[in-house]
Order: sequence, then C-alpha cells, then structure tokens
Amino acid sequence: MVIGSRSVSASEYGAEMTGQLNSNGIAPIDDEDDFKFEDLGDGMAIVTYPVDRGACDDRYCPYCNSCPLDGVTDEHVYPQSIGGDGRTVIGVCKRCNNKAGANVDVWVSRQSWLKSLAFRSGNLMKRHEEHESTAKLKDGRMLVGHFYWINVGKNAARPAFQPLKTQPDGSKWITEHACQDSAKLPADINVYSEDMLDKASFKLQLPEGAGLESAMIKILLGMSYWGRGVEAIMLPGFDVMRNCLKGEMDPRVTVSWIDSLETLNKKELPCEVMINNHTVWGECADGQTFIGGVSLFGRIIAEIIINGFGAVLPGRMCSTENPWVPNRTT
Ligand SMILES: [Zn+2]
Repeated sequence: MVIGSRSVSASEYGAEMTGQLNSNGIAPIDDEDDFKFEDLGDGMAIVTYPVDRGACDDRYCPYCNSCPLDGVTDEHVYPQSIGGDGRTVIGVCKRCNNKAGANVDVWVSRQSWLKSLAFRSGNLMKRHEEHESTAKLKDGRMLVGHFYWINVGKNAARPAFQPLKTQPDGSKWITEHACQDSAKLPADINVYSEDMLDKASFKLQLPEGAGLESAMIKILLGMSYWGRGVEAIMLPGFDVMRNCLKGEMDPRVTVSWIDSLETLNKKELPCEVMINNHTVWGECADGQTFIGGVSLFGRIIAEIIINGFGAVLPGRMCSTENPWVPNRTT
C-alpha cells in the first residue's frame, strides 16, 4: 500500500497516519476500500485503517501480514500437486493467493518426479502437463520425449510417453495415434506405439539453482502460521520470510540444500524427519538466529537460517504430514 512516497507497513493497521499526497492531490491506492481517507489540504491527509489487528484473525493473511476486508481464500500450505490436502489449509488474501502462491508454487508443480512421489496421494498430473523424460523401449532403444499420466479411472492412471519428433541421433518418430495411415509414411519415420514402452524416467532436477528457495520459505511461513498462530506470525521476524515471497530472497535468509536424510538427521532437530513425509521445523531460541527447515518427501531438504530474526520463539516447532494418506472431506 503506497501513500505518496511513503510505504505503509501492515503494522500500522488500526492506527492513524498522515501521508503525503501525490501531485494530483490523490493518494495512489493499490488496495481498494482498505482505509478511510481525509484530505487536509496542503498535500496532507489522514488515513484511517478500519481494521483492528486483534479483531481480524479470521481474515488475517500471513503472507502479507494484513487483514483484507474482502476476506481470505483457502491456500494449501503444501502445494496440492505434491500431496497438500485439507489438513493444512490456511486463509490468505486473494492477492497473495494469486501472486505469491502461484509464483512460488510453480517450480514444485513442474517437477514430474516430485509429483510422481505424490501420485499415490491421488494428485494426478494433468493430461496437458508434459515433462521431460527419457524412455526405454522393450527392444532396448532409448528415446527422449515427454512423460504424462493418462487417467484410467478414479485415482488410477497409467504412464504415457510421447517421443520428440526428431531424436538426438537424428531418427524421426511419430506417435501411433498421430498417424492416420502408417503405410503412407516415408520409410525413415518410426511409429511409436504404447506397447513398445518398457519404462519412462523423469529428468531429475536438483534444487540448486532452480529457484525453489522461495517455495520452501512459503511452506515454512505457512506452517509457522498453522502451528504457532497469528500472534507469532505477526512478529517482525516473519517479515523476512514474507519478503522472500516477492520473488527475490531476503539477504538475511540462507537456504542450504541437504543431500540426504542421513545427513540431516545427524543434526539436532526437534523431530525425526522421515522419507515420504513432509516435515517443517523451526525455532529461534536466542532471538537472533532462526534455524529451521523444510523436507519434501525426505528427498528435497532445505535448511533455512535467518540471521537477525529479532524475536524469541517459544519452544520448537515441528510438523509432519504424510501425503500418502489423503483425508479429503469433500
Ligand atoms: Zn496477503
């Protein structure tokens, strides 16, 4: 929210403040209806926020630390594509759901192999989602192309593969269903049919350099809100996490990728982190350094350190969710 050149932080909600008008005498507003505006002339105005922070819990947005008047919408702390379901849903404002949520979830949702881990939780890849893949045919030949799932019933699917038209070795391929009459095809074009497939593999992209950091911070922030509640999440220390949802990491945050569960469990953690679970943990005992992390399936593991967190968190948070057991109420 911007009034003139001054940025109004959410901590000023419920308070009065005086802001500078722009040259048109109009306060530029990027939130509608969030506050009352009284023009005092001479480029000054009183802006009154109609929302009392303490009274807005049911429509508080932990991603932007505000109390949107138009309410909150459901946000899955763990993206649905990797097993997030009705258990860990929080309310966030529509803007954050659209912007921060969509932006930082996108990397996770692109990862076929993460989604394949979530497959048993019933989160099918959509038919149009194609993922880079390598396939081995029954006759031993290797092809590169795209992998996708074909739904064959309720919570049942089979893998499918589509080869690139031109393979790295120069050979040309067409899929059976794309070919009307194979007898008329030039002799140098191979026809791919599904019964030729032995297995298809996902291309595994390691988290380093992949821009996954903000997605992990979003999960950490969401679970902190879910576990610790609104009072904790309003602490300024969590602003550091919120900053990371805008696309660039806050310089006070360090995300380190841990290569294996074995390495991770040698550290002193508030709980055991297990394979096939999602786990989030975190603490700030001295008010200075936040130490926490996020583990997805025990395979993507981020240790998250925030220097200058600036607030003591009581106790240690640890939350584990098993994405294999869907618990949908709808
Ligand atoms: Zn928000």
